This record gives sequence, C-alpha cells and structure tokens, in this order.
Amino acid sequence: RQQQQRQDSELMSQCARYYQHQLKHHAQAEKAISYLKKRGLTGEIVKKFQIGYAGDEWDGVLNTFGRSGQQRQQLVDLKLVNRNDNGRHYDFFRDRIMFPIHDRRGRVVGFGGRVIDSDGPKYLNSPETRLFHKGHELYGFWHLQQQRKRPEQVVIVEGYMDVVSLAQAGIDYAVASLGTATTTEQLQRLFRTTSTVVCCYDGDRAGRDAAWRALENALPLLKDGVDMRFLFLADGEDPDSLVQSKGAEAFEQQLAQATSFIDYFFEHLLADIDPSNDAGRSQLLSEAKPRIEKVASDFYRESLMEKLANLLRRDRSQLERYVDKPKQQRM
Ligand code: ATP
Ligand code: MN
Ligand code: MN
Ligand code: MN
Repeated sequence: RQQQQRQDSELMSQCARYYQHQLKHHAQAEKAISYLKKRGLTGEIVKKFQIGYAGDEWDGVLNTFGRSGQQRQQLVDLKLVNRNDNGRHYDFFRDRIMFPIHDRRGRVVGFGGRVIDSDGPKYLNSPETRLFHKGHELYGFWHLQQQRKRPEQVVIVEGYMDVVSLAQAGIDYAVASLGTATTTEQLQRLFRTTSTVVCCYDGDRAGRDAAWRALENALPLLKDGVDMRFLFLADGEDPDSLVQSKGAEAFEQQLAQATSFIDYFFEHLLADIDPSNDAGRSQLLSEAKPRIEKVASDFYRESLMEKLANLLRRDRSQLERYVDKPKQQRM
C-alpha cells in the first residue's frame, strides 16, 4: 500500500509538471497565458502555485503516461483519465487552466481545472480518489506551512483564484476549502496553525450560506484563545476581485473589521426571527440554545448565553432551566 501511495503521488506530480510544461509549449498555450494575464496573475505567482494548462486534445495525459495497461489503470484510478463503456480511454481535464492541489506534506493529490472561455461549469475538480479526500484538503495550506512564521490569522476563501490572487498581493495566509462547505476537519487543522480564522466567502447567496455552515462546523472547536471572524463582501465581489480592484491594504483593512462570530451568530438568526413577540423569542431560543451548547469554551458559551438571555428578556439563570426534554416528550 505504501508503495502504491508513493507511485500514485509520483504520477500526480509528474502530471502537474506535464500541465506546467504545456502552459509553455502547447499549441494553445498562448490562449491560456493571455487568460492568466487578463486575470492579473504574474508569471512568478503562476510558477509558485505550479499552475498549468491541460490541452484541448483527448489523449495528452493518456499518451504521455498511459503506455501500459497497468499505467492506464492507475490513471483511471487517479481520475486523470476516464474510461467509457466501450473501454476507450480519454483525458479527464481538457482545455483547462490547471491548479494542482497539494496535501499538507506537499504531495499533489488532486487538481482543479478552470475553463478558459467556453461556457458550462467553470471548474472541474478531481473526484475523490484513494489519494484525494476533499473534506480534508485545503488549497494553499501547504504554501502556508512553508512559511517559517506561524500566521497570526488565516483567511478561508472559496476558490483557487482567491488564494492565488491574494498571495500575489502579499496576503499569503489564505486557504480555500475547494468549493465545498468548510468542514470541521479543515477548521481543526487551521486552528492548530493559527489562533484566528477569518471566513471570507463570496458576496452571494452561496457565500453567505457557506459562512453559516462554517460557523456551525466550528462550534465544537471554539476553545478559549481561538477566534473566528467573518468578512462579508459586497454583492458580486469575491476576495480575488476585491484585492485586484482595491489592493491589499484595503483588503487587510476590511479584514481587521471582520465581524466576530458572536455578533454574526445573532445577526444571522435575527435575520429571520422577530424577537419582539413571544413566538419569535421562543423560536430564537430553539435555534440558538442547542448551538450555543456545542461551543467548547465555557467563556464563549457564557457570553452567548448572556446575549441570548437579553434578547429573550429573561434572566440568565432562567435560561438554564429551558432544556430540551426529547425523551420525556416521547413518553
Ligand atoms: P473565478 O474567479 O475563476 O471565476 P472563483 O474561484 O471565483 O473563480 P466561484 O464560482 O466563486 O469561482 O467558485 C469558487 C470555488 O468553488 C472554485 O474555485 C472551485 O473550487 C469551486 N467551484 C466552482 N464551481 C464549481 C463546479 N462547477 N464544480 C466544482 N467546484 C466548483
Ligand atoms: Mn461564488
Ligand atoms: Mn468566487
Ligand atoms: Mn472569482
């Protein structure tokens, strides 16, 4: 098994180098390069993140790495190549800008591929393989760990371009959760690396939903000494567009004013609940209390409970008696 792992990650990094090479030498390379330039990326940052290009042919990776049946099987296992029902093989990523995803030890475990100018889904990510487990990996985490200093804060963003573009602007402490909801595992890894995590997702519905899910997943990790904050961007903005248009200083200024998780917790719940009547307050209680009870730190839990008590117009001590009794209810 260990040998297979070594062979797998060897093939993945060869493939990453292949895509990097194609960005310079493929017949369509010019198109890919001018796209990256249009997105404001320098050659230096492209190299640093080992960004490459998958050509538009169906057999680039296949012919380069799939000479034997065994090699083709490995390519299929790693989802670099597909096999259709007729047993024909073809490249998984075609005509895309390629972002290699490194695990925490720097091994390439997957790829994200962005279309250049055609329509259809913008990104295609490696599916789960024996090497790649989406919920564990964070794009940019390896680069973050390469720095000698422990970062004061880490920013979680949604996308590849956000991480790369922020890094180019000198904000080299951003990671992306790869389009999925940020998982407890990912957050746990980040809280081992830093004391402050700032979520900065896109200024759209999906981004706002992602923020709340991240907070819910973080509740059991909120120990004393750790902090979680939220930076909400204007509609249509994402960290990439913001830093490209306003610059790093403006971005860091906004970061410094990010909303504390305690404020966000109640802002979010009160967006849909009117606490001026009993029904609303009862709803607030039922939404807030079970979540507050998950918070790891006694201190944070107490702060949240105090705020909740104020909103419910009850004494803090009364609140303690409002416990769910699911077992009794079922009797
Ligand atoms: P760009 O700036 O290049 O348009 P983005 O990073 O802003 O890209 P979003 O549409 O905001 O792209 O998506 C954020 C992230 O979500 C992407 O970087 C990618 O990881 C993931 N993602 C987006 N679309 C898809 C998709 N169709 N399938 C899988 N993952 C996706
Ligand atoms: Mn978005
Ligand atoms: Mn985006
Ligand atoms: Mn974007």
